[in-house]
Amino acid sequence: MNNIVAIVGRPNVGKSTLFNRFTESNQAIVKEVSGVTRDRLYGLGEWNGYKFSVIDTGGYIQGSDDIFEGEIRKQVEIAVSEASVILFMVDVMAGITEMDLVVAHLLRKSKKPVYVVANKVDNTARVGLSSEFYEFGLGDVYDLSATNGSGTGEILDDIVKHFNIEEDPRPNDLPRISVVGKPNVGKSSFVNALTNEERNIVTDISGTTRDSIDTRYTAFGFDFMLVDTAGIRKKAKVIEDIEYYSTLRSVRTIENSDVCIFMIDATEGLQKQDLHIYYMIEENHKGVVVLVNKWDLVENKETNTAKDYEEKLRHDLAPYNDVPIIFTSTTTKQRIHKALEETMRVFHNRIRKIPTSMLNEVVLKIVQDNPPPSIKGKYIKIKFVTQLPTHAPSFALFCNLPQYVPEAYKRYIENRLREKFDFQGVPVRVYFRKK
Ligand code: GDP
Ligand code: GDP
Repeated sequence: MNNIVAIVGRPNVGKSTLFNRFTESNQAIVKEVSGVTRDRLYGLGEWNGYKFSVIDTGGYIQGSDDIFEGEIRKQVEIAVSEASVILFMVDVMAGITEMDLVVAHLLRKSKKPVYVVANKVDNTARVGLSSEFYEFGLGDVYDLSATNGSGTGEILDDIVKHFNIEEDPRPNDLPRISVVGKPNVGKSSFVNALTNEERNIVTDISGTTRDSIDTRYTAFGFDFMLVDTAGIRKKAKVIEDIEYYSTLRSVRTIENSDVCIFMIDATEGLQKQDLHIYYMIEENHKGVVVLVNKWDLVENKETNTAKDYEEKLRHDLAPYNDVPIIFTSTTTKQRIHKALEETMRVFHNRIRKIPTSMLNEVVLKIVQDNPPPSIKGKYIKIKFVTQLPTHAPSFALFCNLPQYVPEAYKRYIENRLREKFDFQGVPVRVYFRKK
């Protein structure tokens, strides 16, 4: 899909405010489901049927009140390298600053589409003020008020022109598998273990696009595409430790996959940066297999070590925790084959289509045994269930009063569906619709 928008600009121009506006509706759903507040670094937006990823670049910069030129340079270079569209945000009240000129200079050299967004145009009195930003030589200037929303529609209308609308439309292709995780968990060791190539390419990241390279893997009865193997192998050592970079890199990879092998380091456990990547997989409705790698380094293993570890991990991954968890070592090649087996199982879970008659039989029985609660004396009657023709499993339950169905009941249905039809590793969506 590769519909990625990066919002760049110096601190305090309003980047995170716009990010929130773009991702609001989607984020609300995620919050409701998970019951946790997340750091807002990455989100999904939608406009006129186009889905896109938004990265809040400002959220990655530390001590943003006194930011160094070098940091903003990195922020922009990475955005230019990884995003499909760049929004360059400036502040109409502050006018052009030194830092804006630095950003503009970097963006003029890039080949990516750049939109200059003059923020804080909150009222008509401020409309004329943005004309000075034409000086950047980056084309049209869009007036915007991130706080009240005026101008967002015009910008979105134009940026979606760069996007694709389809949702992974590759029914006859090979399964697309990727290995994702934060730096140093063992991704390239894993890929090398599969492909037997001891390569260690060190490359600096430049301002141009690096197209991702996929590898076909055929061995031991498996046949699939490994997505973005070049991206995994290439080590932009200086820059890859910046979470912003590794997250942006992951977004693209995840979007291009059917199933993600999500890797964490057993000795470190699940950390915030791991969770950010994990949530991106879930939010994009991709299949997932969790590998707890470097298991060889965990000392004094006892009978219950793996079991206890798994239990805690499941707890930390909640609510999206109906996923395979495998303890691997790329060094000793422990359970590499098992990891691939589980990955293919999840792939098949993700494309499973349940016959409508069986689906209705099962779901209507579930509903009969435990109907939705009545609200204000009104009863919800579920008449018919169908699986929607999407790639990841989603189900529509047709009923008289969809607006009264509580979130908890949707989750209840989802969990029963998981039990009955094995959707392990796969996000399942349940919708209630008017008959
Ligand atoms: P960032 O550092 O670029 O992410 O900027 P923030 O989104 O944190 O915004 C910085 C400040 O500008 C905050 O106090 C916002 O409330 C304010 N702000 C953001 N957008 C607007 C806007 O459209 N109009 C006005 N008046 N203030 C805004
Ligand atoms: P990446 O950044 O996720 O691609 O991680 P690498 O594959 O480059 O691995 C980072 C470091 O961890 C390297 O020094 C590897 O040799 C080491 N490593 C990777 N997998 C394992 C493992 O299963 N066990 C041990 N002991 N070390 C590992």
